[in-house]
Amino acid sequence: MSLLEIKNLKKSFGDNEVLKDISLTVDKGEVLCIIGPSGSGKSTLLRCITKLETQDDGIIDFDGTLGLVFQDFNLFPHHSVMKNICNAPIKVQKRNKEEVYKEARSLLKKLDLEDKEDAYPYELSGGQKQRVSIARALAMNPDILFFDEPTSALDPELTGEVLKVIRDLAAEHMTMVIVTHEMNFARNVADNIIFMDNGVIIEEGSPDEVFSSENQRMKEFLGKFT
Ligand code: ADP
Ligand code: MG
Repeated sequence: MSLLEIKNLKKSFGDNEVLKDISLTVDKGEVLCIIGPSGSGKSTLLRCITKLETQDDGIIDFDGTLGLVFQDFNLFPHHSVMKNICNAPIKVQKRNKEEVYKEARSLLKKLDLEDKEDAYPYELSGGQKQRVSIARALAMNPDILFFDEPTSALDPELTGEVLKVIRDLAAEHMTMVIVTHEMNFARNVADNIIFMDNGVIIEEGSPDEVFSSENQRMKEFLGKFT
């Protein structure tokens, strides 16, 4: 069953055609990884799906709640960890405050941030900040969770702790769309992989299919990681 269906999505900035004709589906419980060179339109695709950007043409068929985790965390610097997590569920989703706080505490526990409830973002490591932003996205109870290069701003030693959280979510069958440059991670965690270049999908399929592709651009791209 498809949770998200995109047909012939197009997006330009001025005369720069960034998304040329993107069609894809995401099934419930699926982990889809999107890989591709910088500038290929991956962030724009996520931003169109999550309505941070308007599309020019095409259909995005989705009915539910979306969560988004950014590369640079996007936490509110003047809010505590708890407030960062609880703000949207209380203010936007109008949910019961006690219930949201209770859920947030169990999310913090799950993400190994139990003692950070009252901390401010500047007091946290990059890995902790990213885990808070994952907790914040999860607090909305999203049907699909999107990640835009969630570890690109992190040192290698902090990358692992964030990838582990995503792996754990995958094991719980959270539906996720993950833009990443972590090729081994993508290979291990993804049910399906899309390779984007220059605003089009060049390859898609299972990790084995995509990583053994004979497509020249795909091979050049993967060659940069070996
Ligand atoms: P990726 O995430 O794959 O690196 P992006 O989606 O960020 O690629 O960018 C794709 C292209 O769209 C780039 O040429 C970028 O300069 C352009 N672009 C992205 N956002 C904007 C914007 N808000 N205004 C103008 N151009 C943009
Ligand atoms: Mg990007």
